[in-house]
Amino acid sequence: MAQTTPNHTQTVAGWAARDSAGEIAPYTFKRRENGDTDVTIEILYCGICHTDLHQVKDDWGMTMYPIVPGHEITGIITKVGKKVENFKVGDRAGIGCLAASCLECDFCKSSQENYCDQLQFTYNGIFWDGSITYGGYSKMIVADYRYVVHVPESLPMDAAAPLLCAGVTVFTPLKNHNLIESPKKNIGVVGLGGLGHVAVKFGKAFGHHVTVISTSPSKEKEARDRLGADDFIVSSNPKQMEMGKRTLDFILDTVSADHSLGPILELLKVNGTLVIVGASSKPLELPSFPLIFGKRTVKGGIIGGMKETQEMMDLCGKHNITCDIEVVKPDDINEALGRLARNDVKYRFVIDIGGNSSSL
Ligand code: NAP
Ligand code: ZN
Repeated sequence: MAQTTPNHTQTVAGWAARDSAGEIAPYTFKRRENGDTDVTIEILYCGICHTDLHQVKDDWGMTMYPIVPGHEITGIITKVGKKVENFKVGDRAGIGCLAASCLECDFCKSSQENYCDQLQFTYNGIFWDGSITYGGYSKMIVADYRYVVHVPESLPMDAAAPLLCAGVTVFTPLKNHNLIESPKKNIGVVGLGGLGHVAVKFGKAFGHHVTVISTSPSKEKEARDRLGADDFIVSSNPKQMEMGKRTLDFILDTVSADHSLGPILELLKVNGTLVIVGASSKPLELPSFPLIFGKRTVKGGIIGGMKETQEMMDLCGKHNITCDIEVVKPDDINEALGRLARNDVKYRFVIDIGGNSSSL
């Protein structure tokens, strides 16, 4: 669908998928002029989240083509509208998944914009002016300042980019369950990908005992040596799963595909909580026995609010937490998406939109 909104006059170079084959190709499109509450950001880096892969392939049946993905954006502010507070030209800025919300409901007022029922996303959403939103696989973006955060000076712009989605998505459930700088608990992380590896880093930074539950035995050594995981359970190994029963207080499930929750629930202690943030397009199997015999809870969660996002960025600055990334050129996005689909990335691809990485 072409944009016809009158003030969409700025021509931007980007990369889009045209159909559910999900092939990404250069795409030139229009963005709105910088409004009173907008900032314009020259994009330097954009992470490739598994959500981008779901969306370009229309896994969830909601994609509006052409789609310009990307919601792990870092860049430099080049313009500020006259009603913008707290940002100035030259600031290092980050944009995650949120583009708009009603700003009036209880969720918006308590900075849980991510649960506003009028929430619109950074891409494949409908902005206040009726235009379709286009994401960070592009050179420049115009965003309402209320959905923008500061990137601390101590964080590199490339390795910080995935914090804007992967980071806040795993941070918020930890915060909601009082696991930030709290007494030591036993935490499990299911799926060691983009979200999972940040969850392990947060768990360790906040002083917990962290167990990775993975389908990939090849990830064990690095998970322990590099990310600091204390234990590693291969989910297809019945002996390891048996040994792990009733050991964990809290589990974050970041798996992108269909899988059974029963064996994962068995790893929780009585009263333990499983939070699902992975977004499988198929319904997950949830057997009743591990729930009722363990008085266990299963919950979900989507990203985090804007205050939480800034808090998470600041904590990452303080603890020096960044993502483990592989930087790719825009020309290599398709190859990166293919490798992501094959579970072949440690642990996040980041696109060098600004052409600043000397290693490429
Ligand atoms: P990712 O980098 O591909 O990581 C997913 C991990 O899941 C893989 O590394 C793999 O870990 C595991 N996995 C993959 N296929 C599996 C299977 N068939 N069975 C069991 N485990 C499997 O993806 P991501 O970017 O972290 O995103 C993960 C999911 O979260 C996606 O569905 C994404 O859309 C969703 N997401 C949700 C939110 C939210 O707000 N709730 C935000 C961002 C992303 P192992 O090799 O260790 O098994
Ligand atoms: Zn994401």
